[in-house]
Amino acid sequence: MSQQERTVDGPVPTGRTAPAHLDELAQALEQAEAVIVGAGAGLSAAAGLTYSGERFTRLFPDFIARYGLTDMYSAGFHPFPSPEVRWAYWSRHIWHNRYEPGPLPTYARLVRLLAGREHTVITTNVDHQFQLAGADRTRLFYTQGDYGLWQCSVPCHVATYDNEETVREMVLRQRDLQVPGELVPHCPVCGEPLAMNLRVDASFVQDEGWHEAAERHRAFLTAHQGERVLLLELGVGANTPAIIKYPFWAMTADNPHATYACLNLGQVGAPSAIADRSVLIDADIDAALSALEPMLATAGRP
Ligand SMILES: [Zn+2]
Repeated sequence: MSQQERTVDGPVPTGRTAPAHLDELAQALEQAEAVIVGAGAGLSAAAGLTYSGERFTRLFPDFIARYGLTDMYSAGFHPFPSPEVRWAYWSRHIWHNRYEPGPLPTYARLVRLLAGREHTVITTNVDHQFQLAGADRTRLFYTQGDYGLWQCSVPCHVATYDNEETVREMVLRQRDLQVPGELVPHCPVCGEPLAMNLRVDASFVQDEGWHEAAERHRAFLTAHQGERVLLLELGVGANTPAIIKYPFWAMTADNPHATYACLNLGQVGAPSAIADRSVLIDADIDAALSALEPMLATAGRP
């Protein structure tokens, strides 16, 4: 295929967009030799892990009253007056978005759809919901970090630290929107503050686990090049299209046996070059996966 034909040139409103085309997705899943899943923020939102509205006001009424916070996205950047206050906020943010499963079983539905199928998952989500739903962790590639990990803020060394125990203590022992000073985490090597292991700037630490996951994902893509592949994109918005969306379009364009499926609420599209092999489903992801499950069961999978 020529370089020109491989060009992906932005979404066009063609293709099949109605939820009725779930049957095409079901068929593509059944026939796929390999499934490559790409998951973005819309998947977690569909699972009820919303960062604003009722859920935010229910979880953070005290912080809203004192600091005028408006939602969990912007709260992550709020200049809290001290580390003790900052960790009082963040520990609760981490706890409710990383250690508690989402209110809806969306991820569990997806894990069941993938069970028994050759697959890999790449996600920009940092909320660990795939693992909480029982996904095979050796098939997951978390590109942007994990709320459950800390790193040196400098960073003086390449390592990450599980934060579950400390975060639980912070949630339980915070008073008047502050954690006890002794719980504020510091780097065991240089003594500087620990920070979230999130790709927010160039200081993001890619530890051994990150590199192993990246390599497994890359090897999977190589091993299944040219096969009957389903690229299943779920809830990927326009914020960071270079991580999932554009590579998915390019892989579909490169492989005439590939099918691109885009499942999202209000944001679906595919370049014209792959429109005839694209299944675009503009629908609530949880509802769509729920409808898909029985369609697959009747198709006689093991
Ligand atoms: Zn350090």
